[in-house]
Amino acid sequence: MTSPPARALIGVHVGPGLTQDGGMDGGGPLARAAEMDADGVQFFLGDPQGWKAPGLTPDQQALLTGDAAGDAGGDAAGDIALFVHAPYVLNVASTNNRIRIPSRKLLGQHAKTSAEIGARGMVVHGGHVLGDDDPAAGADNWRKTFSRQAETGGFAVPLLIENTAGGGNAMARDLDAIARLWEAVGEFGAGFVLDTCHAWAAGWDLATAVDDVRAITGRVDLVHLNNSRDPHGSSRDRHAPLSEGQIPTGLLVEVARAAGCPVVLETPGDAPAHAEEIALLRTALA
Ligand SMILES: [Zn+2]
Repeated sequence: MTSPPARALIGVHVGPGLTQDGGMDGGGPLARAAEMDADGVQFFLGDPQGWKAPGLTPDQQALLTGDAAGDAGGDAAGDIALFVHAPYVLNVASTNNRIRIPSRKLLGQHAKTSAEIGARGMVVHGGHVLGDDDPAAGADNWRKTFSRQAETGGFAVPLLIENTAGGGNAMARDLDAIARLWEAVGEFGAGFVLDTCHAWAAGWDLATAVDDVRAITGRVDLVHLNNSRDPHGSSRDRHAPLSEGQIPTGLLVEVARAAGCPVVLETPGDAPAHAEEIALLRTALA
């Protein structure tokens, strides 16, 4: 007898979350996840376009860990998985020192705070090198990022590298680029995030995407399940609701099923729309 498959962990990205006055929008990510009946939640620790180190107030930290008194996340908080998304500006692959060096520092700082709130992992984009530079240099910069961090005990949370939609010099847009990157970072236990909108934009075959990635990395740790407003191979990164874009919804469901790992929706829409998408996906995957 085989045991029934475990219920899929379905989460949602919420943003921006942290407010200037030290509070959080909508009672914080846990409360917002609970409102949508999500099993997980992904968020930024600060301005996704900013270079500031994360600086959570004690109140924010309590909201994120579910320790706040009378918090709507309350008892459910312990069951909701947290994923942090690193700032978009960060690019540890860059051949530009003035980007790469602060990026490494920021990555370490965000990983530390992510660990402090008990996040399961931190999502970071693969990044890219400058126009005419050799992408192999970018992969090597990634290797150095991990090997330097390893000297002080490694990153405080699992780093999950996400495939991106466009750019000829990207580290994680095409499967062959991912193969080169994994030769550099695989030994450090780097994790992989498969974003379906980005894969579609990059012209991948979504029917085989999970197997194709696993053949290279040996793993898919998280799926960003997003539809796309644009045609296959467009290189454009415009997410759409699960049942409203150019990707057949059934194909998205099959990606989630094949991956068998946590899923985070980064789809546009309000809380009721997300609650509906989560319910739809949960039914489809049952
Ligand atoms: Zn994504």
